[in-house]
Amino acid sequence: MKQIDIAIVGGGPAGLTAAIYAARERLNTVVIDEYAGGQILQADIVDNYPALPSITGEELGEAFRSHAEEKGAEFLECAVTAIEKNGDSFALKVFDGVEESDLQAKSVIYAAGCQHRHLNIPGEERLTGHGVSYCASCDAAFYPDKAVAVIGGGNTALAEALLLSRVAKNVYLIHRRDTFRASADIVETVRNTENIQLIMDTIPLEITGEQSVETLQLQHKITGKQFTLLVDGIFVAVGMLPDTKVISHLADIDEGGYVIADETGVTSCAGLFAAGDIRTKQFRQVVTAAADGANCVKSAEQYLQKR
Ligand code: NAP
Repeated sequence: MKQIDIAIVGGGPAGLTAAIYAARERLNTVVIDEYAGGQILQADIVDNYPALPSITGEELGEAFRSHAEEKGAEFLECAVTAIEKNGDSFALKVFDGVEESDLQAKSVIYAAGCQHRHLNIPGEERLTGHGVSYCASCDAAFYPDKAVAVIGGGNTALAEALLLSRVAKNVYLIHRRDTFRASADIVETVRNTENIQLIMDTIPLEITGEQSVETLQLQHKITGKQFTLLVDGIFVAVGMLPDTKVISHLADIDEGGYVIADETGVTSCAGLFAAGDIRTKQFRQVVTAAADGANCVKSAEQYLQKR
């Protein structure tokens, strides 16, 4: 079986930047993802990607993808179901939705990103898709003049609350502490938005509804008082979980589930590099993910030369 130089697992900003750099170096590479573009496709406005102010997430994700295509990157629209290391080669199993096939690679850049963390409270799973959502830019349009709740205190939750405030009548922003984790500028905008009501120091207990979401049961952490909000939609934005199941037996993972790697992307497994949100890092942003993709190609090139 033909062996490619680098299998890039994940087609978000990290993986697509790696594809651009690898294509420029004439490395034989393939980007494996069910649909390349990444989580950023779901973002409303991205206002902090340098030189492209106020671009939409969809435009930015598509621009990464078309840049990689233009440079000649190859794509395989599959999920990676297993990765094994045999000697100094990697064997990958990929699934296209119908059948599984095999791929051999000399090195792997793992840039599979993260998945939405769930609240794990009663009603959440049952009502997902029936009022419970993890993506405001996908689902906000279903709530014109309705009441919705957003749960979380990070950049995603506040950005989702702002997006929803332009469509819904009332937005309740529920956070478990009395200070936000999100950046100061977005916190200020949220505080100045009339139809966003902040509910702080409060945790969600249960989501109820027959066919679709009807109520959100909450508890104030300090007083212990329980209360109910009548809402039509609930947007869960409580962070992300790194998706490492296919490499956790190969590389060292930290206690949060992230692959241990510095900005070179070098992991404890020779030939396996980690890029983007999946790796241990201070700041998970599109710009840092893109930088990781470039760095990983440099590291992979050095590895391939020595190999
Ligand atoms: P995050 O920064 O990890 O924030 C998650 C939030 O959810 C935190 O406020 C956390 O509370 C809360 N939370 C976690 N588990 C919870 C639970 N079980 N119940 C209730 N609340 C819970 O996640 P994120 O907002 O998705 O952002 C992920 C990364 O992407 C961050 O690095 C962020 O900066 C970046 N990002 C950047 C932008 C941008 O710059 N444009 C936009 C979106 C995301 P605590 O604060 O108490 O821990």
